[in-house]
Amino acid sequence: MIVIKTVLITGAARGIGRAVATAFAQNGCSVILNYNNSEAEAHKLATQLSEKYNTNCVAVKADVSDPIEVKAMFEQAGAVDVLVNNAGVSSQKLFTDITDEDWRTTVGVNLDGVFFCCREALGKMISKKSGVIINISSMWGEVGASCEVHYSASKAGVIGLTKALAKEVAPSGIRVNCISPGVIMTDMMAGFDEVTLSELKEETPLNRLGTPEDIASAAVFLASDEASFITGQILGVNGGFII
Ligand code: NAP
Repeated sequence: MIVIKTVLITGAARGIGRAVATAFAQNGCSVILNYNNSEAEAHKLATQLSEKYNTNCVAVKADVSDPIEVKAMFEQAGAVDVLVNNAGVSSQKLFTDITDEDWRTTVGVNLDGVFFCCREALGKMISKKSGVIINISSMWGEVGASCEVHYSASKAGVIGLTKALAKEVAPSGIRVNCISPGVIMTDMMAGFDEVTLSELKEETPLNRLGTPEDIASAAVFLASDEASFITGQILGVNGGFII
């Protein structure tokens, strides 16, 4: 059971973020659904969740890699009890083909975005001496993925940020944790063919690929009082893919 009131989730219109937003709404939370491009989906989901769970859900636009847009989003949102940094981008390329723009975009969304959102959320959390931050990294940030050096580096950065920030803000009553998903079936996996997906499934000890709901239930747990003694941790939700 969760007793937390206001949750902001970045990249909440699709994939993992959508499932996370749904799970928090289902638990009675007010949810601020951030989106960048998926405007119609975000507004539609906010309306559906508000009606279905009788709670207050709104969609707010911001490109998380832009500090000005992030600041404006938090001004609109007000104080948030839980921040879920989920927005992310990925692409597969040989290291030698990664352009400056690929690097800046990937690190800009996946790592700068986490920095900007934490910075905006923390001021009010510190004043209230409570709050929860959950960052979505990736198992590739833990072990590295071939042809995803930029992605792996950005996600490893999220793990380092989580651990350091957890130490710094724990005395202010704020917990910071990270979820490190394995292979989760969302649009992010759309570029992978059936053979590759089948190989990834076979490599997963629990013998299935993950769902967005697998990540959502971990996020709700980490935000709940049941996790009140957990901070600075990297929770692998990967079916045993990396152990
Ligand atoms: P997805 O289906 O491709 O969705 C990506 C989400 O990120 C979308 O909601 C998108 O919003 C948002 N986003 C992208 N750029 C943004 C920006 N500049 N500002 C704000 N939002 C932005 O991906 P997913 O699988 O749900 O991934 C969610 C998170 O899980 C990512 O951080 C990803 O790295 C991580 N992850 C995924 C997997 C996997 O196997 N799927 C594995 C490990 C980690 P708009 O559509 O509104 O632009």
